[in-house]
Amino acid sequence: MAILKTEALILKTFDFRETSMIAHFFSKDYGRIDGILKGIRKDPKKFASRLEPFSTNEIVFYQARSSGLHLISQCDLIENFNHIRAELKSIAFSSYLIDLLGHLMPHEEKNEQVYTLANAALRHMNSGADTEKVVRVFIIKFLKIIGFRPRLDSCSICDKNIAAMAFFNIKRGGLVCPLCARVDNHSAGVFKGTIASILHMEQSGWQDALRLGLTGKIKEELNYILHNFIEFHLQIKPKSREFMELLS
Ligand SMILES: [Zn+2]
Repeated sequence: MAILKTEALILKTFDFRETSMIAHFFSKDYGRIDGILKGIRKDPKKFASRLEPFSTNEIVFYQARSSGLHLISQCDLIENFNHIRAELKSIAFSSYLIDLLGHLMPHEEKNEQVYTLANAALRHMNSGADTEKVVRVFIIKFLKIIGFRPRLDSCSICDKNIAAMAFFNIKRGGLVCPLCARVDNHSAGVFKGTIASILHMEQSGWQDALRLGLTGKIKEELNYILHNFIEFHLQIKPKSREFMELLS
């Protein structure tokens, strides 16, 4: 039985039987993994970390061959994003981010780029950056990494380049030119600024992306496009979306 060590973000924990706990992690080296921490509720000092939500930990585990539920032998706290837990709004937005990882990252498949991105997002959230902006930047960069980027360079129907006015079609996953939009009633007009801001957030570093100011209308359009795009193409409906929108 191999003993492995990695750094991991806590996605979810729940009690198991009398004294144990099951934890879902998103780890740097093995992707999304599940583990059991035996006896942690009877003797909390057995593990150095309390496995709080929004924290990264170093875990040591015995790799389970068949069940996929690894036995965690050690769990040490690396970074605790405790400011996130102090406010309802940052809890809601961070929960959405954690839900996306839980729903969309494949089981036991390493993706260090996503791991680094998620950590950066939580760190910005923890240091008081605008929660809505952080989640928006995260989603845009995340979609690009996992290969689900909306098509923004040319028409999703006829492939022609789009110069001026454009429409967005959630089902087709991208922009539609004015000619195609005329015969396709699922396309809706989209501001140039919305497209430009997606491209800016996708291409620039965190600091620049977070500095970008957006008008209320563009924010609204971006939120509509991003969340509906995710729900339609990735077929998930995170419960935390409602909670997040309630606090927007
Ligand atoms: Zn077209």
